[in-house]
Amino acid sequence: MMTGSEYIESLRNYKPLVYFMGKEIESVADSPIFRPHIHAAAMTYELAHDPRYEDLMTAISHLTGEKINRFTHIHQSVEDLVKKVRMMRLLGQKTGTCFQRCVGFDALNAVYITTYDIDKKYSTDYHERFKKYLRFVQKNDLMCVGAMTDVKGDRSFRPHQQSDPDLYVHIVKEKEDGIIVRGAKAHMTGAVNSHEVLVMPTRAMGAEDKAYAVSFAVPIDAEGLVNIFVRQTNDLRRLDGDIDCGNAKYGIVGGETLMVFKDVFVPWERVFMCGEYEFAEQLVEVFATFHRQNYGGCKVGVADVLIGATANIADYNGVAKASHIVDKITEMIHMAETCWCCSLACSYEGYKTPSGAYMPSPLLANVTKLNVTRFPYEWSRLAQDIAGGLVITTPSEKDYRNSKIGDLIEKYLKGIANIPTEHRIRMFRLIENMSVGAQLPESMHGAGSPQAQKIMIWRRGNIEMKRELAKIIAGIKEDEHFRRIVGKTEKEYFKEVKG
Ligand code: SF4
Ligand code: FE
Repeated sequence: MMTGSEYIESLRNYKPLVYFMGKEIESVADSPIFRPHIHAAAMTYELAHDPRYEDLMTAISHLTGEKINRFTHIHQSVEDLVKKVRMMRLLGQKTGTCFQRCVGFDALNAVYITTYDIDKKYSTDYHERFKKYLRFVQKNDLMCVGAMTDVKGDRSFRPHQQSDPDLYVHIVKEKEDGIIVRGAKAHMTGAVNSHEVLVMPTRAMGAEDKAYAVSFAVPIDAEGLVNIFVRQTNDLRRLDGDIDCGNAKYGIVGGETLMVFKDVFVPWERVFMCGEYEFAEQLVEVFATFHRQNYGGCKVGVADVLIGATANIADYNGVAKASHIVDKITEMIHMAETCWCCSLACSYEGYKTPSGAYMPSPLLANVTKLNVTRFPYEWSRLAQDIAGGLVITTPSEKDYRNSKIGDLIEKYLKGIANIPTEHRIRMFRLIENMSVGAQLPESMHGAGSPQAQKIMIWRRGNIEMKRELAKIIAGIKEDEHFRRIVGKTEKEYFKEVKG
């Protein structure tokens, strides 16, 4: 297992093609713009060496029997699923932001489960290939980007119907030694500071979308792979002051790229789905379940930091005892712990798949994530409410350090007498960082937008069983009644009506 600094050093062995603000980046490890994201991801390595967290942060590989970082593990039990979310809450608390490595972790588990099922149906050997790849990832303790979301073009068209065929990643050529792929994936969290990219399809596919039903892995510096690092609110603050960043060491959320595959070659041993379109939906659903499970872990760890910052600023402002402040902070805790309950519940309700790997309850994982599309907006609103307007009107660190005006800021931004003004400024900046920027849309759209969760909740909510329960309690003997009046059962009738 790598340590945090070994991980950072390992990034120097890769030469990914990365652009930011019109310039090609020479070295990801040395560019200040990526530094906070790298530090956050490094925490997933560093804590694995801390004896206090060994049980959460490490696991025993079911393939080799060796101790590995949990982020490369295939869940072997319900306990593993629970440890996963406990680990995520811990990392959220330690970084106050997204530590990025979970997407690849979830992709490894989803591809593991799905390749097993594809092989069962078609006698292919994807699962064995994938196990070989997984050994390589585990042995070298690599960070993978889970690359699912295609850019998708016109959302009303299926992949093969798009006016530009490249709007979903697809196979453009099959060769003796591998495949050539083209297309683009959006919102690739942690991409530039990952070692590997594990690609999956983004939606259910039909027979005509066969070329789009593709899963494979390439190194982040594969030839033809272009990463365009995206902008974030206040991103350039990283380049100057430390206080102005709010969370200078670990930064803002995620760190995403638009990832373009310009005819990238993938050798067969790294191809895990090649045209088995009827398994695209399963792969998406399994991945989404794993990733939605996380959000009551990582986001709640982050919320722990925000709640703490809010309680501190209330102290510094001299309002901590006001009953409405106590009430609002209690609301924040209630919402965060509700999301935590959801993550725990979907993990405890997990089950064994035919591959032997465990996955969480899809229904409850989707409920978890749907709550996280809402509650972080509310707890951020309360944090801003309690903190006051200085969250967005605090002068810069450069002015604070200026010999001519710094003392004015020191004097006039003072809260209660015994707390240094600098502490108050730091707390405002942290709350700004955590409640104003990219964190909120990330809670909304990361791991899929709310409607995607609603579709899954509707499908998995077993509405038929609930209808039956109501009829039994209400004393309705449906078949008898309907056959007499309508000539068919109620179920048949509504099936026709709803089409
Ligand atoms: Fe992990 Fe959470 Fe970041 Fe997703 S949003 S990569 S689950 S820390
Ligand atoms: Fe995310």
